[in-house]
Amino acid sequence: MTTIVQRLARKTRGFEARVAHAEALLREAAEDHAGRIVQANSLGVEGMVLTDMVARLKLPVAVATLDTGALHAETLAMIPRIEARYGIAVEVFRPRQEAVVQFVGRHGERAMYDSVDLRRACCALRKLEPMERLLQGRSAWVTGLRREQSAERRHVPFYALEDDGREKFYPLADWTEADVWAYVQRHDVPYNDLHDQWFPSIGCAPCTRAVSAGEDPRAGRWWWEQGAAKECGLHLRPEVASA
Ligand code: SF4
Repeated sequence: MTTIVQRLARKTRGFEARVAHAEALLREAAEDHAGRIVQANSLGVEGMVLTDMVARLKLPVAVATLDTGALHAETLAMIPRIEARYGIAVEVFRPRQEAVVQFVGRHGERAMYDSVDLRRACCALRKLEPMERLLQGRSAWVTGLRREQSAERRHVPFYALEDDGREKFYPLADWTEADVWAYVQRHDVPYNDLHDQWFPSIGCAPCTRAVSAGEDPRAGRWWWEQGAAKECGLHLRPEVASA
């Protein structure tokens, strides 16, 4: 089988400069917010690139993730893989069990397919609420969003001051997909096995499918929704993103 690294890793013009810029931004953010900054790793490849930088550069940045209770086994397996490879403890935040039980009891296991509102309600309790806890006590956070990922993300900045006063850093904002895989190849970064099964973007199991060659990278997320922005609200508010 041809791996995704073999297919996509390519050092295009400007690669070294983009890597150097991302590392410098991450280092500066870590120095400014030492002990109060967290990388939210969604356990896809961009998150792994950033965790690799944090560990390799020995930066005082916590690494945290959300276990929504609906992740693929391959995604959950990334947590012990990160810990074994880098010798760091990944902070894991889960939804409140009683909220999940109540929601599923009322709307069923497949509620996300019934309406956009129910899908967003599921994202709110499985992702947004735990994310609030993940960010508690932090003055800054780091995410792996890239402009190239979707039309909604094409204006992603390197840095933003959020409404709640937290600083948010996007070191990979200008990276291409080829950059990401070239970095993985260079540093032998562990990555989610789903990427080799044509999952460029990885979310919860019920809401993520593989894509075909040439399809939009986020086509496999909430694929049944027509016209709705493919965002859960962690980074971009869907109603804003679709405007
Ligand atoms: Fe629920 Fe799907 Fe959102 Fe995951 S991505 S929280 S399963 S609606």
